[in-house]
Amino acid sequence: MNLILLGPPGVGKGTQAKLLIDRFGIPQISTGDMLRAAVKGLTPMGMKAKEFMDAGALVPDSVVIGIVQERLGQDDCARGFILDGFPRTVAQADALSEVLSGLSRSIDAVVSLSVDKDEVLKRLTGRRACHGCGAVYHLEFAPPKASGRCDACGGELYQRDDDKEATILRRLEVYDEQTAPLISYYEAAGLLRAVPGAGSVEGIHEAIVAALKAS
Ligand code: AMP
Repeated sequence: MNLILLGPPGVGKGTQAKLLIDRFGIPQISTGDMLRAAVKGLTPMGMKAKEFMDAGALVPDSVVIGIVQERLGQDDCARGFILDGFPRTVAQADALSEVLSGLSRSIDAVVSLSVDKDEVLKRLTGRRACHGCGAVYHLEFAPPKASGRCDACGGELYQRDDDKEATILRRLEVYDEQTAPLISYYEAAGLLRAVPGAGSVEGIHEAIVAALKAS
């Protein structure tokens, strides 16, 4: 199954992608995670991307399209994939369908998750990630057992630079301007499955699975 998870920052795409990996045995392709890895590794691409990411802006299409194209060609994507955080612009969506048609493949469904702005702010400002293994926590909704430490590996927890309130507001604006048009883009293609992003993590997961079965 070839899936896209679409929705604003903080809607829970990453969390839901993890559950879908277990359910369907296909990998998650998160451009945000790949870019953060490049930033951490101090690669030339990472250093260029960091400026955009810290400002809450989008990294140029040519950069992310290149990353995704390379990733989709890898063996573990042969049975399917879950795109999380890509595409984020109409140009990226057009490029994706070209890349996939070159591989004689196409998108099966686009799950569009939605949640209101106040909820997004609450979710993102409380989000913490582990420096060591990348596990994600929330100060209120999913706190670690020991403050500031990862339950899984004991690593130090940190707040992403782009999870500060001013940057979050900018990221939401960017979403409305550049990414939200993809909802009608994929609706017109008959691929959109709208699922409310509020409620329990498990409840949302089941709603996604039901929406996919219905398609
Ligand atoms: P995310 O973890 O998906 O929220 O992504 C974090 C940041 O990485 C975004 O705010 C962008 O700066 C950058 N980014 C991730 N995916 C993309 C994309 N598809 N296009 C452009 N920039 C991206």
